Amino acid sequence: MTQKIGFVGLGAMGRPMSKNIIGKGNYELIVYDVVDRAVEELVAHGAKAAASAAEVAENSDVIITMLPNSPDVEAAVLGPGGVLEGMRPGSTLIDMSTIDPATTRKVAAAVQAKGCSMLDAPVGRSTANAEDGTLLIMAGGEEDVFEACKPILSCMGSDLVHCGPIGSGEIVKIVNNMLTGIIVTANAEALTLGVKAGVKLETLLQVLRSTAANNGHLHATYPVKALKGDFSPGFAVRLAYKDMNLALSLGGQLSVPLSVAASSTQLFNMARGLGHDNHDYTSVISVVEECAGVKVRID
Ligand code: NAD
Repeated sequence: MTQKIGFVGLGAMGRPMSKNIIGKGNYELIVYDVVDRAVEELVAHGAKAAASAAEVAENSDVIITMLPNSPDVEAAVLGPGGVLEGMRPGSTLIDMSTIDPATTRKVAAAVQAKGCSMLDAPVGRSTANAEDGTLLIMAGGEEDVFEACKPILSCMGSDLVHCGPIGSGEIVKIVNNMLTGIIVTANAEALTLGVKAGVKLETLLQVLRSTAANNGHLHATYPVKALKGDFSPGFAVRLAYKDMNLALSLGGQLSVPLSVAASSTQLFNMARGLGHDNHDYTSVISVVEECAGVKVRID
């Protein structure tokens, strides 16, 4: 039987993820975004348009949300015209946004009170992985809900990890993005120092990639983005800054000191001040370049 899927939030990630649902499964898709153009693009791919998130939910067995941050999820699910208004008992909400786990638990309580179920299922990897359906999906929620949602999650991701009860997917995702943000800023400082001191960038990359200083961003993000002078996202500075702050907030709630993360967060904040809010997060290197008076670029 054809399953009815709803998708709310058709941005850099939601757009390719929802296209994969149409492309890969026996699903009917109904979509909503506050930006009309994003909806029109999905309609051209075979989705139906809804006039609100509530209308998406009225017509769906499973509703997926892919929104920037906690207030956006609260507005789109709990707010007027939101998902909750339209959800039918027995339906499932999968929130794939990266948000505060406390908001996830608040939304889940409201969803469950309506006789529905919920998973938090934020994603790892990049927009390119969203396009080819190879995201890493970190899910929190009841095991049986996770099992029931596996076929739809498999349209979007190649690696599905059940992390624990509701909110656990968000916790794992926040920890991951805190570490990756720290690595991105550490690379910016290390590479700028080496170049300013007179060594060729290619030599630095060759050595750093073959010692314990090696990390994925020296291979996959920096060389194809900021080091080539390409600041297009990718993963935007504004989202990296948001995720660093989610980590700092969680650390504050739990009395876990995050001094290195706090310092990295301020470099992202400086990048925002230099106009990089919507640029790829590797553009954080611009802050260090600006201070050092050099450009760190692959020839
Ligand atoms: P985005 O800003 O490109 O897209 C968000 C979309 O949500 C936009 O189209 C916006 O119009 C829509 N929206 C906002 N409020 C809405 C509402 N109330 N109702 C309906 N639509 C609404 O963000 P993105 O890059 O797609 O990221 C989405 C989530 O995925 C974020 O939490 C982000 O941290 C996470 N993420 C992003 C990446 C990446 O590489 N971009 C990777 C992994 C995870």
